[in-house]
Amino acid sequence: MSISGRAAKASLAMPFRGHAGFASVPVSFARAAVCNDRSMRRDLAVIRWEAGPYTVVFSTRVGGVSKGPYESLNLGILTGDDPERVVENRRLLADRAGIDPERARMAWQQHRADVRKASPEGILAPGTQHAACDGWWSDERGQGMMLVTADCLPVAIGRQNGARPALAVLHVGWRGLLHGIVENGVAPLGGAGLAAVIGPGIGPCCYEVGPDVAEPFEAAFGADVLIDGRLDLWRATELALGRAGVAEIEHADLCTYCHPELFFSHRRDRGTTGRQGVIAAVT
Ligand SMILES: [Zn+2]
Repeated sequence: MSISGRAAKASLAMPFRGHAGFASVPVSFARAAVCNDRSMRRDLAVIRWEAGPYTVVFSTRVGGVSKGPYESLNLGILTGDDPERVVENRRLLADRAGIDPERARMAWQQHRADVRKASPEGILAPGTQHAACDGWWSDERGQGMMLVTADCLPVAIGRQNGARPALAVLHVGWRGLLHGIVENGVAPLGGAGLAAVIGPGIGPCCYEVGPDVAEPFEAAFGADVLIDGRLDLWRATELALGRAGVAEIEHADLCTYCHPELFFSHRRDRGTTGRQGVIAAVT
């Protein structure tokens, strides 16, 4: 995984939490490396997962054109932001990732567990009625898939077993995780020889939950995912990925709530905020 972008320099130069026990998986993960890419029209800060024949780019809020609480790379159009600015931000991110935005796919995200196979649609037309789901998968080269988040976890899973490359991206919140979105994302990829990355989301430092959330998580994942009334959604997602058979799991370990300079946070900003996300494709 590598990170580029001027604004990311100070905050992203931290170690990633990886699993050293899976070194035999033929995946090359670059650790946190920061660089400035001034060849780009805008200096977007992005987090890039380097894993075989896949493009997986997690966005930050840095480098877009939106203003005020949506400053600046807001990808979410169902906010108070100007739709034309949102579309320009999506275009900038797609350009940065090298993914065709006219073919990429977005979702009408539901906080549930449906994962669909992506087909061309486009992410630049305001008013598009996107399919209701919280995950996409594809084994078609160049089929872009984008999901947006603002505390929930963007997750990507790639097939690494020598079979035809295939990739899934998931929007993982507490409801979706309990309803099986990780299992639903793993299933079309085949379940063996998979690698995954957990992108930026609210961390165990900040995610206070009530008993309505804590109790089902303790039942599903054990008491270790709860710390003084806060939920470790990162750890619970990692456990779900491991149970589903994912052998290699990388983590951004970046809390959206803790980093207002880098990320939108629905909780921190009390709902008036933008969305970062993930854009990905089989390369
Ligand atoms: Zn935090």
